[in-house]
Amino acid sequence: MMNRQIIVVGGGMSGVAAAIAAKKQGADTLLFERYGFFGGTSTASMVSPFMSFSAGNKQLVYGVFQEILDQLLKYGGRKAGSRAFDSETLKFVLYDLLDKYKVDYLLHTYLTGVVREGNLIKEIITESKNGQEHFAADFFVDTSADADLAAKAGVEFEVGREKDGLTQAMTLMFRIANVKMKEVLEYCRKNPENYSFIEEDINGVSIAGFKKEIEEERQITKFDNPLDYIFFVTTHRDDLVIVNTTRSLRVSGLSNVDLSRAQSEGHHNAWQIYELLKKRIPGFEDSYISNTATQVGVRETRRIIGEYTMTGIDIVSAKKFDDVIARGSYPIDIHDPTGGGGQMIRLKEGEYYDIPFRSLIPKNINNLLVAGRCISATHEAQASIRITATCTAMGEAAGNAAALCVKNNVTPVNLDIKELQKYITSNISG
Ligand SMILES: Cc1cc2nc3c(=O)[nH]c(=O)nc-3n(C[C@H](O)[C@H](O)[C@H](O)COP(=O)(O)OP(=O)(O)OC[C@H]3O[C@@H](n4cnc5c(N)ncnc54)[C@H](O)[C@@H]3O)c2cc1C
Repeated sequence: MMNRQIIVVGGGMSGVAAAIAAKKQGADTLLFERYGFFGGTSTASMVSPFMSFSAGNKQLVYGVFQEILDQLLKYGGRKAGSRAFDSETLKFVLYDLLDKYKVDYLLHTYLTGVVREGNLIKEIITESKNGQEHFAADFFVDTSADADLAAKAGVEFEVGREKDGLTQAMTLMFRIANVKMKEVLEYCRKNPENYSFIEEDINGVSIAGFKKEIEEERQITKFDNPLDYIFFVTTHRDDLVIVNTTRSLRVSGLSNVDLSRAQSEGHHNAWQIYELLKKRIPGFEDSYISNTATQVGVRETRRIIGEYTMTGIDIVSAKKFDDVIARGSYPIDIHDPTGGGGQMIRLKEGEYYDIPFRSLIPKNINNLLVAGRCISATHEAQASIRITATCTAMGEAAGNAAALCVKNNVTPVNLDIKELQKYITSNISG
């Protein structure tokens, strides 16, 4: 069996950034992904736009994420200045970048187990069309979003709210094409009280509302989506919208039974929402569902117990850390696990918080880092750090750190943080 220097498990945005960063430092890196493309939640779950990665006018995330933004623009999957993007273009852009940096990868390969000896992971075990295989490496990065690798290695973790372990609601994203946006806007602006917001800016159009139409629809059909509003945003095109409205409650992303229910509910609700819009809203008459997400959107599952656990207070107090490896400014945004409501707690205007390297280091393992939405954070802190740009920045830091740990033959807790920070200056300063 060939021994790699670094294995990265999970090819979402954090995993792609980790693999590229490690490879840029010259580490022999192999990236694993269970689907047939990269991007994870941003492609398989079709989540767009990138939520804000700025504090006031200060952009917080550059690096690999900026490279992805630039390539999206180049290939027409994003308009200049906009955070909205096309998930299909993103799929191509990520292949292109991984190939540019000559990162080795295996698609359609699912991590199922780990061989651990003492405080070291020796191998991962995978399942694919090849059957079961073992892959050895000196160092591992878990960017599976569910902390699958860490959990299989025996790392302690938490799931969900402190009071009952329930995780945020799931959403099946879907896209509606051939929308006449001018007509939609004209209609909505006639009754602004029917909407939470109608926004039109550099990011495109974003509308949440249609409350009256939903109430009426509930009287005559089985419209049973828990939300009392419909929310959609335009993509790289004004006639193609992404609907972020279905909601499955009391479901766990770690259960195939729950995922099956959420996927099914998502499809039923997506059709109800689409039919309402088509029937009642001018501009949607000739529209059609162009695609539904491959994977129902899972906002939260495991959160590892690491060397430092970020808290909600760290987020809202805009806490800074000496071992900063990424920064964020997104509010604590919790989609109620049990109903249609939610919680949104914002930082002060223009402020941002640091993510410390210690939150990526699982306890009691010497050759593993975790990046993305499953780092060491409370339920509240995770509800902020989970957005895509922040996850990408964490991945970039983890990939760089992994390469340095291998190069310098040190464990993550003993890594010279100043040396790591030199590789990620654009994401932590300025
Ligand atoms: C419905 C929804 C709406 C959201 N809205 C926004 C938004 O508008 N803007 C925003 O910025 N963020 C939003 N987010 C949050 C954000 O999209 C995600 O939290 C973030 O992209 C997660 O990135 P990640 O790299 O940690 O994980 P993921 O993107 O989930 O990547 C994990 C990857 O690992 C792979 N994987 C998992 N397990 C295994 C395994 N065992 N073996 C092999 N591969 C595996 C997966 O297939 C996937 O590709 C939303 C999330 C959801 C669910």
